Amino acid sequence: MIVFSMSMISLAIACGGDTDNSNTKRLPNIETTVGAKVKEVLTAIPLVSQNERIALINYTDYATKDLESWIQLASSKMKTRKSRIFAFIYPVGERKEPEETIRSDHADNVFAKHEVLITQSQIDLILDSVQKWFDNDRCIGGQRPLKDYRTWLEQGGDTSTMHVVCPTVRVVAMGVTAMMREREPLSEFQSFLIHEFYHAFQQDLSMEGECEKRRNMENSNTRWFVEGAAHYFATVLTAQLNNDQNPYSKILQIAYAGLERESDYGLYEGGPDKTGAAALRLMVERGLLEEKVIMDGSLFHNCARELTFDSTSPKMQDIRTSWKLIKKRGDTYVFKPEALKNGSN
Ligand SMILES: [Zn+2]
Repeated sequence: MIVFSMSMISLAIACGGDTDNSNTKRLPNIETTVGAKVKEVLTAIPLVSQNERIALINYTDYATKDLESWIQLASSKMKTRKSRIFAFIYPVGERKEPEETIRSDHADNVFAKHEVLITQSQIDLILDSVQKWFDNDRCIGGQRPLKDYRTWLEQGGDTSTMHVVCPTVRVVAMGVTAMMREREPLSEFQSFLIHEFYHAFQQDLSMEGECEKRRNMENSNTRWFVEGAAHYFATVLTAQLNNDQNPYSKILQIAYAGLERESDYGLYEGGPDKTGAAALRLMVERGLLEEKVIMDGSLFHNCARELTFDSTSPKMQDIRTSWKLIKKRGDTYVFKPEALKNGSN
């Protein structure tokens, strides 16, 4: 889930330059903090060299050093890194029954109310910290943190969102459910974390001009490319972390299960991340797209999703229907031969 809240004015401000770490593979400096230490550490972040900075508040029981290492691994794969990122990750309890969604300005009625597990002072600390972090950033240009952050925290929202504050500033919010923390394998959480950070690494999400024009067209590629690549990257990296051999089968398996379950499971309805990842995989297998550009994030440097891959072209029209041609072969999931053949037109 991506929230855009960028004003035209802040778009016009020249933000910090590109920091190319493709040669040096320098890892980002991650300021990780838990609880009361957060204020000192955030205040101590130097205001120069803000690029590559990631501030993280973690109130879950996942070890902060583990989160750091997974985020660093994801970041190290990127060809270049531009954004400053503020992330707050917090546990929520059981979902309120009957289910009630949360009213908010952005992502209205997307997240559900859960039992609130963090204290009011912890919530205030997150909000104070994010406010401090917003101050003194030229790119942010006077914008204030979303009121939604408080709403989501105080109502136990199961948030999974990356907020595009301005071209080089991103806020990640993750409300981790009891279901995920207690009943699902760790790989689910790893994948969730890596997915949201991949969004924060996508550099061209707020690009205007032709990119924006094409993004708003019917059947544009943006939604399923942006979500699909995050799911693709997270699935491949999580597989590496857990020594799973075939992440591509997993991508197709999840898409296949969705198709079996829902009649209108598609690139625009339901799960554009799961379906989009399968469609991107088909593009890779057809030789239309290099996997490398998904994995190093450079697919999202200059709006290739609309400007290189024309959503009105027969090739892309064909991808939009052929990604569904998935079959089970033994224990693995693969594309049917006709899915791969159709690409020759
Ligand atoms: Zn996403």
